[in-house]
This record gives sequence, structure tokens and C-alpha cells, in this order.
Amino acid sequence: MSFPNNVREDALVASARHCCLCHKFCGIKIEVHHIRLESEGGTNTFDNAIPLCFDCHADMRSYDKQHPKGTKYTETELKRHRDSWYKKVLDGIGLARPAEIVETDKKVYNRLMELLPWNGSLHFIRHNNFAGFSFETARLDDLYEFMHECENPAFEFIDADLEGLRSGLLQAISEFTKTVAFQTFPTHNVGRNAVPEEWEYEQPDRFERVVNLLHDTARESCETYDALVKLATRKLGIIPDSAQQKNRGDRE
Ligand SMILES: [Zn+2]
Repeated sequence: MSFPNNVREDALVASARHCCLCHKFCGIKIEVHHIRLESEGGTNTFDNAIPLCFDCHADMRSYDKQHPKGTKYTETELKRHRDSWYKKVLDGIGLARPAEIVETDKKVYNRLMELLPWNGSLHFIRHNNFAGFSFETARLDDLYEFMHECENPAFEFIDADLEGLRSGLLQAISEFTKTVAFQTFPTHNVGRNAVPEEWEYEQPDRFERVVNLLHDTARESCETYDALVKLATRKLGIIPDSAQQKNRGDRE
């Protein structure tokens, strides 16, 4: 048995199709998970349902009670995460947002722009060709600083749509930096990495796969960033900072 359609629908609407744990917007890539498994007496009710992205859902399923690694979510903890997310979505539906919420989100946004200015690492990965050319690893520093800041629980938008994009941005950047960490290697020039040139003829499939992965995750990161900036302009009334554009040459 699984959830009846009306329960699934209620849960998907309440979450606005965002994952209740990592807050990413999922669209069709979402699953409604039983907080207490059916095999353990869980019911098919709204109260026992939590919408999750594929990754968070996989984490739930892979947790092995016999050989526990990491810290399992308890049922009450899952419900608290879910309920606070549902509340965020509900709060966002109102027409005018209270000024203090907008102010708080503006601070989060400004911090994000400080860590990830458009003309820093993002500008670099937006345009860099990773196919056989080395790159200066320091050019990616903003990405690591942003990922580090995301560990701070206060670095979170109150607005559900902005928070969904922040989470999506974190995921895309994490995928990109993971590929850099595992599939690119230091070159003879200190401080520069590359997808090994010799792969191009020794293992062309791997070369192509890694280069594509770097370009795809870089593009995904930049597109999510752009969507976040555009949404913040609308929702928070942020005026794009023209001073930043003048600085462009400094960071090149
Ligand atoms: Zn998730």
C-alpha cells in the first residue's frame, strides 16, 4: 500500500514540491516518504508523510539499523523538519510579506553576494573550458567559502522559493567541486589542476565524461545562481549593484 492520492497531493502542495530536509525545489523528482515505515506499523496518513528529494530519500532507505553509520533521523525530528518547512511555504503565500522578514532575507542575500559575487568564481566557471586546459585552483575559492557558510544553520532564507534556490545552488556547487576534487589533478605548475591531458588519448571516454560533468555542473550552478538573483530582485526589491560591474576588471 502507498499513500492515497489525496494525501500525496496534500503533502506535495504543502511542501510546494520542495524537499523538507534539504529544501531543494524538486519538481517531478520528489517522493513522499513514510516517516514510520509501513512494515513498522506506519499509516498512510498526512501526518506520516514527508516529501523528500531523491537524495534525502535514498539516505533514509540506506540507513542500516544493524550497522548504523551517521545519525538516523528520529520520527519526531523528521516531523519537526517537515512542519517548519510547511510553515515556511504557508507563510510565503500571503500577499505582502512583513518588513522584518524581507529585512532578514536581504541580510542572507547580501551575505550570499559577498561570498559569491557574480564576477568571482562563478564568472570563472561560467566561461572556463576544462577540456585539456589547466586552471588555477584559487579561482574556485568563493565556491568553498559558500559551501562552508551553508553549514551555518542561520544562513537560510525565510522565503521558501529563495531557500529552495539556495539549497539547489549548494547542491550544484557541491557536485562541481566534488568532480574537481576527484577527477582533476595537480599539474607541474604549482596551484594549477587539470583533467589529465593524456586521458584524451589513453581513456577518451573518461576524459569526455569528466569534462562534460565539469561543464554541466558549472552551468547548473550558474543557472541556479542567476535564478536566485532574479527572484531576489523581485521578492526583496534588491537593486542590482552596478558598482560590482565596475569591479569586474579587478578580479579578472
Ligand atoms: Zn533533500
